[in-house]
Amino acid sequence: HRINIAIDGPAGAGKSTVARKVASALQYVYIDTGAMYRAVTLKVLDSGVPKDDDEAVGRLADGLDIVLLPGGDGQQVRVNGEDVTAKLRSLEINRSVSYVARLSRVRLRMAELQRNMAAGKGVVMDGRDIGTHVLPDAELKVFLTATPRERAKRRFLELEPGTEITLDQLEREIEERDRLDREREIAPLLQAADARLLDSTGMTVDEVAEEIVQWGLAAVRT
Ligand code: C5P
Repeated sequence: HRINIAIDGPAGAGKSTVARKVASALQYVYIDTGAMYRAVTLKVLDSGVPKDDDEAVGRLADGLDIVLLPGGDGQQVRVNGEDVTAKLRSLEINRSVSYVARLSRVRLRMAELQRNMAAGKGVVMDGRDIGTHVLPDAELKVFLTATPRERAKRRFLELEPGTEITLDQLEREIEERDRLDREREIAPLLQAADARLLDSTGMTVDEVAEEIVQWGLAAVRT
């Protein structure tokens, strides 16, 4: 039988890379919920709606048809038919996304879309609140962490070549985003009581993925 796997944790812990590998090993569907909040943020920035206006941003989010398509090298994100994948990892979005993601109407809408995506079982979903809020009945929950320095290094490698930021500054921005995600009122970043903690500092992506696949296979058997 098939199960759902929730992978939560702070920014840059390697969740998306690992979740993609786990999904491919188990032939499950991978769902990157951070990309959905990033897509909403892109539209908020483009439209000029103030990012602290719950009503207006909520209305905008309700009108967005966000679709995640499995692609060869990850996942394609489409918003109302437009492929926005390449625009989602900018510093500008990194800096705004936690403000958009703390709005109640945005969270309600995203959680609804995410639950629909997971309804058939067999998903690996990564985010901040998957084990605690979106899929509280997920059969396997993992809370993936690494030191702030290690996480900053990983995010540094993802930036467009030529982006003007130092590793130190990026580390500070990541810690600030985590603080906002932890301290928000609705569905904050938090390890679920029944989640397994995995610190990936010093581990390779393959080692981390293999550990989670083994836990997943054990969960399928029970
Ligand atoms: O995972 P990623 O770094 O792409 O997530 C971007 C941001 O989206 C997070 O910092 C957080 O503010 C928000 N997010 C969230 N809940 C999720 C996934 C992401 O609030 N499930």
